[in-house]
Amino acid sequence: MDVIVIGAGASGIIAALKMSKKANVTLLEKNDKSSKKILVTGNGRCNYWNSDININKYNTDSKEKLERILSKKDETYEFLSSLGIYPTIKDGYYYPHSLSSLSIKEIFDKSLEKNVKVEYNVEVLDVKREDNKFKVITNGKEYLCDKLVFAMGSKAAPKTGSDGKVYDILQNMGLKITPVLPALIGLKANESYLKDWNGIRVESSLKLYIDNEFIKESVGELQLTDYGISGICTFNLSSIVSKALHSKKKVNVKINFFEEDFYKFMENNKLDLTIEETMESLFNYKLMHIFFKLAKVSKSKKWIELNQVEKKKLASIVNDFNLDIVGTNGYERAQVCTGGLSLNEINPETMETRINNLYVIGETLDVDGECGGFNLAFAFITGYIVGDKIA
Ligand SMILES: Cc1cc2nc3c(=O)[nH]c(=O)nc-3n(C[C@H](O)[C@H](O)[C@H](O)COP(=O)(O)OP(=O)(O)OC[C@H]3O[C@@H](n4cnc5c(N)ncnc54)[C@H](O)[C@@H]3O)c2cc1C
Repeated sequence: MDVIVIGAGASGIIAALKMSKKANVTLLEKNDKSSKKILVTGNGRCNYWNSDININKYNTDSKEKLERILSKKDETYEFLSSLGIYPTIKDGYYYPHSLSSLSIKEIFDKSLEKNVKVEYNVEVLDVKREDNKFKVITNGKEYLCDKLVFAMGSKAAPKTGSDGKVYDILQNMGLKITPVLPALIGLKANESYLKDWNGIRVESSLKLYIDNEFIKESVGELQLTDYGISGICTFNLSSIVSKALHSKKKVNVKINFFEEDFYKFMENNKLDLTIEETMESLFNYKLMHIFFKLAKVSKSKKWIELNQVEKKKLASIVNDFNLDIVGTNGYERAQVCTGGLSLNEINPETMETRINNLYVIGETLDVDGECGGFNLAFAFITGYIVGDKIA
């Protein structure tokens, strides 16, 4: 049985390795090396797994199918360990013990060298059915195979190789693609104060509203940037935001910059100080001045000198800072995409699509996870399933 796997990224490598003992497998990769995206994951440390993998960590169009896919997580983890990947675990986040993504690439490359025929610099341009086989048309020769596995990634971080061509090929073959949009990405706003808060990092909570309805809260380090907001707590809302903006819905976040009720805090504060002096050690200097400007209060006044409207306004800016979101920071900087090949087109026991002998794995599918190793884990699990079940 001849199998072609397209894409030497996380999902394609695991699929090819797992099936290598029972199939004549060729792995095609358009880059001149494997694992280009893996190298940049986790800031070069590769957060490849998480101790809390479950459906609630993912966005997808079929939770039921996702649950069946994720049920293979333990077997997949064993397989990764069997390749020689030893973890170091921080708050449930798994990294290679070396804390270097290069170690993962090296382990994969050595194992591929021994077990799989890999052809680099081969870009797949199209796929056609020919009798009972697939004809894979590339920038060089054409290949024929009995079974074909798409592991071509999404449109996120195209410099690593994934440029979204996979969606056109799959759509032309009659499969359903839900809209593909950037996710795990910073969010853009359009306010004059953004240049002033650029570079500030602050622990905070973000509440996401869509068409004025509360949707989700995300807590952690918020990065304020010259285009809007970034950081993990922002990323974890971005998939939902991308979809809402795509549907032309109104999106805003409310940022809580202070862990206590600011109004009560100031009422209870009996120091004889101006509001600027009181807030000096609570907030970044530039941020504090944005608060004063938006609340239209004089920094040289004392809290007791503010009228009730001014007090409430300043407190609501600190605890409930409104930011209208107008866009995302795009595919170049996105870590993943939301949307993709609908899980309804997939048999979750095998990763085979509605089209016989055609399989799709990894980020091409309509599944995107939160930050924390969930996306690589999903890519590995789907690669493991197809590698295990292909027969
Ligand atoms: C900056 C960054 C940081 C990240 N950090 C993390 C993290 O710490 N933890 C985590 O879990 N996830 C992280 N992710 C997400 C994670 O890397 C991806 O979800 C995962 O790599 C997807 O694996 P994949 O196999 O589906 O696709 P990819 O890894 O994108 O692999 C697809 C492969 O297919 C090849 N290909 C594409 N088109 C063709 C073609 N036409 N012909 C031949 N080959 C082709 C590509 O060159 C590529 O090698 C991060 C992503 C980015 C961009």
